Amino acid sequence: MQSSNNSLLLIGAGLASALIAQRVVATGQAVNVTMVEGSATPFGEHTWSFHLADVGAGDLKWVEPLIAHQWAGQEVRFQKYARRLASGYASLTSQSVLEHIRSIPSVRIVTGARVAAIDPAGATLEDGTRLEAHCVIDARGFAPHPSMVLGHQKFVGLEIETETPHGIKEPVIMDASVDQLDGYRFVYLLPFSPTRILIEDTRYSDGDALDLQALAADISAYAQAQGWSIKRVVREEHGVLPICLAYDADGYWAGQRPDIPLAGMRAGLFHPTTGYSLPEGVRLANVVADHWQQGTAELASVVKGHALKRARQQGFYRLLNRMLFRAAEPSRRHLVLQRFYRLPEPLIERFYAGRTTVWDICRILIGKPPVPVHRALACLTEQSLLNEKEPR
Ligand SMILES: Cc1cc2nc3c(=O)[nH]c(=O)nc-3n(C[C@H](O)[C@H](O)[C@H](O)COP(=O)(O)OP(=O)(O)OC[C@H]3O[C@@H](n4cnc5c(N)ncnc54)[C@H](O)[C@@H]3O)c2cc1C
Repeated sequence: MQSSNNSLLLIGAGLASALIAQRVVATGQAVNVTMVEGSATPFGEHTWSFHLADVGAGDLKWVEPLIAHQWAGQEVRFQKYARRLASGYASLTSQSVLEHIRSIPSVRIVTGARVAAIDPAGATLEDGTRLEAHCVIDARGFAPHPSMVLGHQKFVGLEIETETPHGIKEPVIMDASVDQLDGYRFVYLLPFSPTRILIEDTRYSDGDALDLQALAADISAYAQAQGWSIKRVVREEHGVLPICLAYDADGYWAGQRPDIPLAGMRAGLFHPTTGYSLPEGVRLANVVADHWQQGTAELASVVKGHALKRARQQGFYRLLNRMLFRAAEPSRRHLVLQRFYRLPEPLIERFYAGRTTVWDICRILIGKPPVPVHRALACLTEQSLLNEKEPR
């Protein structure tokens, strides 16, 4: 592929690349986007959800064509507390993203093309094929790095068809009234139709081992307890998402090439407490749309500045994660969340959007924390975790 000054090469056809392509095209700029995906399935097997308040009204307009499902509210359930939030929620699916991105004439997806090397002028595939572009972005997904100390959000999701209507009208973001296992456990429900529902069994755990069969069995037991008879399992997805307890962002970026822009999880751009990257992906897509025409190395410097700023702004979420993972007993982690969900709805919205204010921080921290104070004090700073030789 020859380079022209309106060519944009995205390495990896995942969420970050989809958002960048959609954003750049939506601005009406003259652009030819090529996405190079190593696997045979661009955009994988995902349901990517977000709170509508995560994304400003202007951004929602260009994200909308990627959305598969949308709801006007959501629910949470704990052992001693339940609440409906009048806060909209939406999901993209791999299928809705693929269908839309494929329909854009100026975007080309190349599959089964594993990239071996990236440079500012292009990429070389494992088979030696060379692709060149005016601007190249590395969006190859999450890569563990010693500058991040992590806990894990692990889940298995089964999208099922029920024999009779399941009765769930809006997403249940957390049903934490279930038995607490392997850390903080909750079930996540997304109703796609009266008889179609995604049930995800999720654990906030220290270790990253995921027992697919055991969690699938727990999902079946949950469905049975709700009185839902499973007609068929339509699809399955699973994930182990990074929950960031401590992050030396300068150290991370010092180890990256200064002339290649990173995007998505690869750029450390995700919410430290949820491991979700869609809101950060939307922010970064705006940055890329404004700067990609300056070329790869110039964009790399802008992206690095943006990511370092976001990492500084996310310090509070990492502190909360340390409280959750290091101060709270695993079996009592659910109490931290139960307490959080009693707070005002706009604060909760800002939390998920990554826009928590100083006043919100005071509201979240005020009162008797459901963790032992001496253990909370021991994890106030990030440095002690970063200094640990062996991850726990
Ligand atoms: C099952 C699951 C559900 C999730 N749900 C949500 C959610 O609801 N909301 C949310 O905000 N976040 C969610 N996340 C977290 C996060 O947003 C996703 O992981 C998201 O897909 C990350 O986007 P990305 O573009 O950085 O990486 P990815 O989407 O993982 O994309 C990276 C792509 O690069 C490809 N690739 C890697 N190496 C190469 C190579 N050498 N050559 C070519 N291609 C390569 C990979 O095959 C992959 O397709 C979920 C994650 C998972 C795993």
